[in-house]
This record gives sequence, structure tokens and C-alpha cells, in this order.
Amino acid sequence: MNDIANPTQHTFRRFKDGETVWDFSDLQTRIFEGERTYKCPTYVRRTPPCQAICPSGHDIRGWLSIARGIDKPPVAGMPWQEYAFQRMAAANPFPALIGRICPAQCQKSCNRDKVDDFIGINSVEHYVGDWAIAHKLKLPAPAEATGKSVAVVGSGPAALSAACYLRLKGHAITIYEARDKLGGMTRYGISSHRLPRDVLDAEIQRILDLGITVVTGKKVGVDIPLAELESKFDAVFLGVGAQKCAPLDAQGADAPNSMSGLAFLNAFNEGRLQDVPARVLVVGETDIALEVAAVARRLGHVEGAKRQNAQVTIVYGRPLPRVLGDKLEHLLAEGVQIRPSLAPVAVVADDTGRAKALRVVEVERGGKRRPNTEVDIECDLIVTATGQSGDFAGMTELDNGSGQMTVDGLYRWTGRPGIFAGGEVLRPLNVNRAVGHGRIAAQVIDQYVRGETMEKRPAFDVYQFDMLAELEQRGLKPADYHHRQESGTDTANFAVHNFEDRSANLDVSASDLFLGHFALEPRVERIERPITAETVLGDFGERISALAEEQVVAEAKRCMSCGSCMECDNCIIYCPKVAVERVPEELRAVGRYVTTDYAKCVGCHICKDVCPSGYIQMGLERIKA
Ligand code: SF4
Ligand code: SF4
Repeated sequence: MNDIANPTQHTFRRFKDGETVWDFSDLQTRIFEGERTYKCPTYVRRTPPCQAICPSGHDIRGWLSIARGIDKPPVAGMPWQEYAFQRMAAANPFPALIGRICPAQCQKSCNRDKVDDFIGINSVEHYVGDWAIAHKLKLPAPAEATGKSVAVVGSGPAALSAACYLRLKGHAITIYEARDKLGGMTRYGISSHRLPRDVLDAEIQRILDLGITVVTGKKVGVDIPLAELESKFDAVFLGVGAQKCAPLDAQGADAPNSMSGLAFLNAFNEGRLQDVPARVLVVGETDIALEVAAVARRLGHVEGAKRQNAQVTIVYGRPLPRVLGDKLEHLLAEGVQIRPSLAPVAVVADDTGRAKALRVVEVERGGKRRPNTEVDIECDLIVTATGQSGDFAGMTELDNGSGQMTVDGLYRWTGRPGIFAGGEVLRPLNVNRAVGHGRIAAQVIDQYVRGETMEKRPAFDVYQFDMLAELEQRGLKPADYHHRQESGTDTANFAVHNFEDRSANLDVSASDLFLGHFALEPRVERIERPITAETVLGDFGERISALAEEQVVAEAKRCMSCGSCMECDNCIIYCPKVAVERVPEELRAVGRYVTTDYAKCVGCHICKDVCPSGYIQMGLERIKA
């Protein structure tokens, strides 16, 4: 029972007052004595908003269904975690990495937020990713060799994702990386306290284990001409990232103790930077700037033989956002000072030419400088991270004039055929979007090297569940079409009856669901270790811990399975004509759990109204686009 004073469940209503006053009096007769209708339930798969917004196109609903036991492993004895990992890796080969550092746009769009709180999608990914590493799971074997080859330049998330999905298609792949180790910005731009190196190494190695050739220490454009790759390979994918930081925009910026944020993080991640001066000034509000500040507080300043806290200040070019978000909140808790709405004016140098302060000026929203507001902030090191661009040394023809490359909607460089690009070389973006670029570019490059037409991409360019593959993996593949004209084909087994997949073009919003079905359930949160200004020094341990298995399953069970059947039985229970029944167990598959006897259905819409997940549409009914 829902106690109104202390509710455990929302009382969402399908109808507003007055809408239940029907303008015909024979409703009961029509339902209970009716014989036919032209509007019967159809099961229509649509893309849930979590997946629609995920730049890597993850099948989030799919692997949550696996974790909660709706979608069972098709092979006897396979642990659900392995099956979930396979589904994750079909769109994104870095679940342990992404589960830790992804900004999780999916969670911000999750329909469950309209009931109580979003689903902790990242925490499920984190758990499954770690389980896959601990159990040494592999990616599927590549398809038969095609005889085609692709050069992948760079080894950040976009490049590795492209390499992975191209190799799975059977192409020979060679990665060219200018540094000694693979990983790009995930290795050289992110600290180990956010992304442990054993996790990164394991997820990269799993991709290399597909049989990928790696050339390190060679910079394409400098050591190897791009033209050489074009002549040797059938296609080239450029995932070279944005390896150049914009310089400090201030007079005297070339002081010897002024450096770029990327140079700082590179030195730290290569082990060359072990401590920082007493006062560090970070200029910028980019992710790199925030990472530099976090690392500087952890490294601290060594005086005599004693390591102590460094004073770290961020000169933040904008007002602080109203909602700070995790990164800024963590930095403030760790003792970083953030001075908003300031712009650099000039480096104040001492007698030796070294910076001893940065002169800044207050700026209004929009960047206009306020007169007579200049102040000097004392410092021993200035680190600038206000923006990045691509490094096109030896490949200047790729530069669109803004330090980036321009590609079309199919990730084709607009300069010459056969060259594709993705990731931060196109524009600043998050790691999950870079992974998505690589996955989609791999599909396009596959079509290109095979000489096929490169297809227009769907509205929701995400991993698409394939009902025929689902039926096939459960031994339920439909028979071949017999090419005969006949009537009464409702029992013919060459068709998938009563199902329509519109997920390439339609998503499902909270108003399409029956939210009243769901009881309030608090989100199971990962434990976050508090790190304070007093404890941050030398603390390079992870802040968050993965959930335990039972917590992951509980969290997955909160998912409302938006746009696909969650096997709740509501439609069976509430159908007044007993027209809806379960599919026999041996014939069930994901999305094939219930079936309607059209000879009994009178089109009352009740099943549609009580379906929590918005999976039912009445046939012939128009669905809003
Ligand atoms: S409830 Fe589940 S399917 Fe729906 S948006 Fe949230 S995670 Fe996605
Ligand atoms: S009401 Fe429940 S069982 Fe019926 S289609 Fe919707 S989710 Fe599936």
C-alpha cells in the first residue's frame, strides 16, 4: 500500500481529470463483447535516452537487462558478467576506464530520474570492466582476413577504438604512435589517481591481443611521411589528438618557469616530475587545467628533505558554474584555491627573468575586461591549459586553419579520399565521444575498403540490438522466406511477428512510460573516499571503489528498460480479454516475452497503458517522431 504521508511509490496518472468521462456509454460492452479491432498491440523497440545521449553508443539498457537476469547468457555456464562485458565491448572496448572517468551524460538523461534518481550506469560499467580484467576476458575473435589493411595514427581512445573495431572486421591494422607507450591522453593527460595504469594497460592489451601491429617512437609527418601510409594501406585513420596547448596569453609568457598543462602532465606521467614549487598558478578551466591542479596538490613541494603541501591556485576565466560538479568540488575539498572571472595580463618577472607573479584582471561574463581591477598573484610556477590544438608537424595540409581537422558526417577528411579522422583532432571532447568516433569511423572505413557505398548514418548512431541475431544465438532463427503469395501468414515462421525495431530513429521519453509502476528505490552509490586538504599530499590512490555484485544487480533492477520489454507481466495480468500471454519458455528471447492473440484482442489499449517500459504501441497508431 502506498502511504500518502510517507509514499513509497509515485501516483503518476495516465489521465487528467475529466479525461475519464467517456463520450460513449458502451465501453464495457465494446471491451467484453467486442470481436474485432484495427488497433492491436505491437511491440516496438526504441532507443532509451541513456543510450541516445551516450557518445559511445553503449547498449546500456541491454547490459543492465543482463545484470538483472532478464537477458540470460545464451551459452550454458557463462557468467552474466561475461555476457554483459561482451555487450559492452560491442560498442565500447573500455568499460573499466569509462566506468571511472566518463562524465556520464547517460545518467543525466536517464528516465528513472523522473521517479526517484538516475541509474548508476557508470558503477555497473566499472564493476563489469574490473571483473573482465580480473577474469582475463578477451574480445571476440576477428572475422576472417579480408586482405585489406588500415593504418591508425595515434593511440588515444579514438584511435584504439577504430583499431579494435576494424580489426574485428578482419582487416590488418598497424598503429603508429609517436611516444613509447600507447594510450594518448588517457595515459599522458590523466593521472593514475583517476585511472590506475594497470586498468589502462589491461584494456589496451586486450585490443592488441586481437593481432594488431604496433609501431612506437615514430611520429607520422616527421619520421614517416603521411604519403607513405597512404600508399601502403587501403585507408588511414588519424586519431592524433590535440597535443598542443595554447600558449599563455600574457606579456612575458616565455618565462622559464612558465609551461603548458600538457608538458606538466607529460612530465608527471613519465615520472620526470616528482614535486612542484611552493606556489603553483594554473591558468585555465579546461579538464587539463583541473588535472594539473589535482596532481600538483598530490605531488606537493619538497623543502629540505620534507614534502609539504604546495599552494595551488587556478585562475579560472569564467564565473564558477552554479552546480560545481564533481571535479571542482573535489579540487576545493583538496585545498585548491579557485579564483574565478580573471584573465591573465602579464607575467611579473624577477631580476633573473623568472616569473614571480601573474598580473590578472577581472573579466565580465562574455570576456570584457573590467578597468582598474588588475592584481598580481604571486607564484613560483605558471602552468597554462586554456585550450588545445592538433600537432600537424609535417602534415600541415590537414590543418583547417584552427589547429583542427575538418571531416564530413562520415569522418572522411575533406582533403583527400582514403583519409579518415576522429577524436580530439576534430574538436575538444570527452573520452567517450572519442571512443564513439572510432567505432563509427571503423564502420565507415570498413565499407570504404570493401568498395561498398558508405551509408548515411542513422539518427541514433549507437549500438543497435539485432533481433535476428538474438533469435539466432538462441537457436530460434526464422526460416528462410519461401517467396510464395499466400494469405493467413500469422503463424508462418519466416517472419518475426508483432515486433518492430524503430530504434535507429525513435527514442522513448519518460512520458511514454507508466512511471506509477515503479516503487521508490534509492540509488546504490559507489563508496567515495573523502580526500581533504590535510590528506591529499602523496595520495595517488583511487577515490571511488567498485560496487559488489549484489549491489550491481540491485542497481540494474532499478532500470525501467525504457523502450524494451522488462518482463513484468502487467499486460498479461490486466488484459480483460485474456488475449496476451507469455511466449512458451523454449521460444523466448529478449523482446519476445509476450504475444497477443489477435483473434481475441479488441484494441482496448489497456496493455499499452500499463506497460511500464513503453514497449507497446497500438498497431496502425501513429507514433510521434
Ligand atoms: S531507466 Fe534504464 S533504460 Fe531507461 S534511461 Fe535509465 S538506464 Fe536507460
Ligand atoms: S507490460 Fe510488461 S510484460 Fe508486457 S510488454 Fe510491457 S514490459 Fe513487457
